[in-house]
Amino acid sequence: MKIIVKLVIVLFILTSLAACVSRGFGKKDYATVEATGYCKCQECCGWKRNLLMQPVYAYGSMEGERKKLGITASGSKAKPGRTIAADTSIFPFGTKLKVPGYGTGTVEDRGGAIKGARLDLFFRTHKQALEWGRQTVTVEIIRE
Ligand SMILES: [Zn+2]
Repeated sequence: MKIIVKLVIVLFILTSLAACVSRGFGKKDYATVEATGYCKCQECCGWKRNLLMQPVYAYGSMEGERKKLGITASGSKAKPGRTIAADTSIFPFGTKLKVPGYGTGTVEDRGGAIKGARLDLFFRTHKQALEWGRQTVTVEIIRE
């Protein structure tokens, strides 16, 4: 009887050790960030129309330059449920992030106000972006 108890204890220790080791291999990284919704509208992306009614940057170093609407800083087309804007010194372009309530997205965009532990999540409409609002979420950084 005592041997069985010891065996159970040893097995228990072994399985917990194994669990630790496997966690180390399939390492999951998490980050708690403040996530804000955005869309391609003037209000979210800081653009205006020039005298020729062309969209141009409203402020910043690119002020007055033509702006392509819905095109991310990395050159891709912004897609709802996929496009994430981040501070690329923390999350470089191409980083995949699993955001609870949004989905698994890719860092494709950035913005002057997006610094540090902040993300902007791209939505199809301004209404959806407002509905998301600003949330503190713990995202999973997917390493492949
Ligand atoms: Zn908007």
